[in-house]
Amino acid sequence: MNRIFNFSAGPAQLPLEVLREAQEELPDYRGTGMSVMEMSHRGKEFGKIISEAEAVLREIAKIPPEYKILFLQGGGHTQFAMVPMNLMKNRVADYILTGLWAKKAAKEAALFGKVNILASSEDKNFSYIPDCSDLPVSPEADYVYICENNTIYGTKFHDLPDTKGKILVADMSSCFLSEPFDVTKYGLIFAGAQKNIGPAGTVVVIVREDLITDDVLPGTPTMLRYAVHAKENSMFNTPPCYGIYICGKVFEWIKRRGGLEAMKKANEEKAKILYDFLDSCKLFRPTVVKKDRSLMNVPFVTGDEKLDALFVAEAAKEGLVNLKGHRTVGGMRASIYNAMPKEGVEKLVEFMKKFEGEHGRA
Ligand SMILES: *Cc1c(COP(=O)(O)O)cnc(C)c1O
Repeated sequence: MNRIFNFSAGPAQLPLEVLREAQEELPDYRGTGMSVMEMSHRGKEFGKIISEAEAVLREIAKIPPEYKILFLQGGGHTQFAMVPMNLMKNRVADYILTGLWAKKAAKEAALFGKVNILASSEDKNFSYIPDCSDLPVSPEADYVYICENNTIYGTKFHDLPDTKGKILVADMSSCFLSEPFDVTKYGLIFAGAQKNIGPAGTVVVIVREDLITDDVLPGTPTMLRYAVHAKENSMFNTPPCYGIYICGKVFEWIKRRGGLEAMKKANEEKAKILYDFLDSCKLFRPTVVKKDRSLMNVPFVTGDEKLDALFVAEAAKEGLVNLKGHRTVGGMRASIYNAMPKEGVEKLVEFMKKFEGEHGRA
């Protein structure tokens, strides 16, 4: 077996322990004679898998009982529509633009109502988080929307915006469970699994119960109503069973390793290794303002596209793969989610030092 260090932004590396457990249980799940992929979602075994996944998530993220946890399908993009369809009662919502995903969400919401842009960092290619301490929140807005960690640009909201009493909705796809967070500050959180918690195909939605109502926009399909999924405990139709099973294993893995505080500590340690090098070296340059840096996604450039391409190709030969940056930023991006071991980051920095020695300007 040859496991490499996979720096992909998503679908991303999963903990080897989790893959091993799944492998062990694949053909015969705990004496049932079948795999989790083959069992009825209405059966006793799967009922246990989904309820345990939910219970462990509730425990590690300290999710209070007045918040519902849903396991849905359709990825982040379906949430870009479900959020306005379910929450935009006055047909007005406020969005903060900190990257491509926030922009896409705002564009989708504009299909359903009036979207106000409260703040944006597009003027500097989303390399910072705008000041959100005194935003011109619309009095009639149904919610304020943020993308909390900007996967492509490598920025993170380290302080939540002052929504002036409005409901805060957050896309946490690329920072979910990377550190502790206070659920009670949000009305709704969603996270596509394929970044930090599992395989593509599952999206976790955490939503405050009073926001789950039948008062949705006219024409909202049954499948896109939070109330329908909440009432059926994510079993309105066939849920993404295997994805939920793997997410459950990742939640257990996080719990075994000491929960979200331990994740934060490990993630800070890993990110520091990389940022410290980026701040001290001459060849590579980080693209994000220091105070807004993400612990999960770290973009950097040399300033020379040919050299960037050479770096990405040479790194891959060393077993450091998927380091190419997003086309809107260029250069490189190292995604160092929970499952990336410290050795992966150390090896990357070692390789960067070597590359700088060979290609750096004197
Ligand atoms: C990847 C990503 C998305 C898109 O998710 P899909 O599951 O592909 O729809 C949305 N938001 C953020 C922050 C992401 O990182």
